[in-house]
Amino acid sequence: MNLAASLPMPDAATDLNLDPYWMPFTHNRYFKRTRPLDRLMVAADGAYYTTVEGQRLFDCLSGLWCSSLGHRDPRIVEAVKAQLDRADYVPAFQVASPDTFRLAERIAEVTPENLNRVFFTNSGSEAVDTALKIAIGYHRLRGEASRTRLIGREKGYHGVGLGGITVGGMVANRKMFAPLMVQGADHLPHTHNLKEMAFSRGQPQWGAHLADDLERLVALHDASTIAAVIVEPMQGSVGVVVPPLGYLQRLREICTRHGILLIFDEVICGFGRMGDWFGAQAFGVTPDLITFAKCVNNGTVPMGGVIARQEIYDTFMQGPEYMVELFHGYTYSAHPLAVAAANATLDILHADEVPRRFGELAVKIEDAAHSLRGEPNVIDIRNCGAAAAIEMAPIPGQVGARGLKVFEEGLKRGMLLRFTGDTIAMAPPVITTQAELDRMFEAVRASIHAAA
Ligand code: PMP
Repeated sequence: MNLAASLPMPDAATDLNLDPYWMPFTHNRYFKRTRPLDRLMVAADGAYYTTVEGQRLFDCLSGLWCSSLGHRDPRIVEAVKAQLDRADYVPAFQVASPDTFRLAERIAEVTPENLNRVFFTNSGSEAVDTALKIAIGYHRLRGEASRTRLIGREKGYHGVGLGGITVGGMVANRKMFAPLMVQGADHLPHTHNLKEMAFSRGQPQWGAHLADDLERLVALHDASTIAAVIVEPMQGSVGVVVPPLGYLQRLREICTRHGILLIFDEVICGFGRMGDWFGAQAFGVTPDLITFAKCVNNGTVPMGGVIARQEIYDTFMQGPEYMVELFHGYTYSAHPLAVAAANATLDILHADEVPRRFGELAVKIEDAAHSLRGEPNVIDIRNCGAAAAIEMAPIPGQVGARGLKVFEEGLKRGMLLRFTGDTIAMAPPVITTQAELDRMFEAVRASIHAAA
């Protein structure tokens, strides 16, 4: 099929009324004023998007970290189509599809130790809020109802639910909504320190001691008030902030010492990107709860979830059987199309050895990313698993403007990049070839020059 011939023509886009759609996490006014045709996508295939003008853009961030196998793998497409022919929707409460039980079992097979009970949501934000509720409920059921305090990290990103922004530490996500946030949250210091760790390759040597701040918070509030600590093993959304060597281990030790649950928010790390199934295995630290989303089904249909240690699940499974143990769930929890896409994705992750291949890609990404050292305004380069970020000095007084400029220059060079502030993040799909990787980094280099 000639894809280009079947696409809507730019005229159709020129006539588009851009006003009614309130775009998420987007400069709406700038977008609507400039009407960028190279940002209107009409098709996705493998590692590329096609714009309304027929331009092919390399997908440098696997969608939004979610399409890690590339787009429209026929095995996923077929599974979703077949599901649609069988059942479009099955209620999530009191009934379920057998495929959902199979999916939960298969997820439990690839998690560490006894993290083997899976609750499904539709997004990472919902997964985070669910995990926080499970943590608080768990303590209450064990007779420790005073454990309600939640601890996140500065610069952490845990989605946009009220629980997620409470424990999150990206200021822009929080400041408008402060009065609504869950009471009693605290934040550990972030581990993003340009003075001590700029241009580290992989995990920085410096910074494990920052985990000890948790002891300070325990002393301040008393462990009997603290429910959980939540961290992203590798922080993707803030721009690939990599955990210092030993940092997550120390957090684990302190949590265990004080009976605090440790939650790994693996919405980005889960299902292969770190070179292992989860960040937990890649970094050798086992949390009590894992949140996931995105790559569980390659971003095909919205899905997220929480994986709990069996003991946490068992704690809920008490009281009379006529009572619902956890009064929580979503109409679209374990939506049949999402489940079908996830089961097909797991088939591929196994058959194509995706975690291992991401590990191989990681080595190439590290070398290529660090070759940009010394380019104009580049003040840090970070890499972790099959992901890298290039941080640039902001234009004075205009934080984020340089990031936007590099993003736009990237589009001119056939690259759909992602920027957060003045940091460019890259996490291409596992099918990326060496030639594509080289092209991507050369385009980033040229874009940085053009934006200098
Ligand atoms: N947690 C983390 C670690 C994330 O990276 C994200 C999304 N980037 C979320 C939560 C929120 O996920 P969603 O956008 O699916 O709600």
